[in-house]
Amino acid sequence: MQTVVLATRSAGKLRELRPIFAEAGVHVLDLADAGVPESPDEATIESFDTFEENALAKARYFFARCGGLDVVADDSGLAVDALGGEPGVRSKRWSRRADLAGHLLDRANNELLMERMQGVADRRARFVCAAAWRGRPGELVVRGEIHGLVQAQPIGTHGFGYDAYFFADELGMTLAAATTEQKRLVSHRGRAFDALVEAVRSRGWLGGPQSAR
Ligand code: IMP
Repeated sequence: MQTVVLATRSAGKLRELRPIFAEAGVHVLDLADAGVPESPDEATIESFDTFEENALAKARYFFARCGGLDVVADDSGLAVDALGGEPGVRSKRWSRRADLAGHLLDRANNELLMERMQGVADRRARFVCAAAWRGRPGELVVRGEIHGLVQAQPIGTHGFGYDAYFFADELGMTLAAATTEQKRLVSHRGRAFDALVEAVRSRGWLGGPQSAR
């Protein structure tokens, strides 16, 4: 079975990505399994203005540190129409609270979102995910999106990040009210990684034993 390294330190993303690769018959390692200790350099990898450039930069960075194993990485975020696409590629650290992480950071970001959306009539937004693959034969990047509305009140307890404030048109509920399986089928990340696995498979980079390349 082929092995890939999932280049993320986010528990929320790992929870969503593991089943996608399991369905595709691919064994996944996270960065800890792959023996890549967290480094301060990682904070500077995603410094580009597009999701695609950031995802590729992350995949390349970790490919160079994973002993030749294939690496997949993503960059994702919320783009709000009325805010000119903000927070966009800055979604994770939008509130600039370097002292916070996890749920507390999510809460600070959501508070800022509510502040910026106060009195705004056009609530349209999308989540975007660029998913990148870097392996010995080459690299590629694809995009997935999910469209919806920014809500004034949080609903739901699943998921992470901005999920409780994002009403997904296709689900008729917030992403935090959806189960992991419901979210996986329509989410930006689910779509991007389905497209990535398909694109990699169609190039013949997936499916065979690694030693046969
Ligand atoms: P990054 O892709 O690790 O740079 O992080 C993107 C940030 O966008 C996350 O920290 C979340 O704040 C937000 N985000 C990305 N995907 C999702 C999602 O599926 N639900 C909620 N928030 C998300």
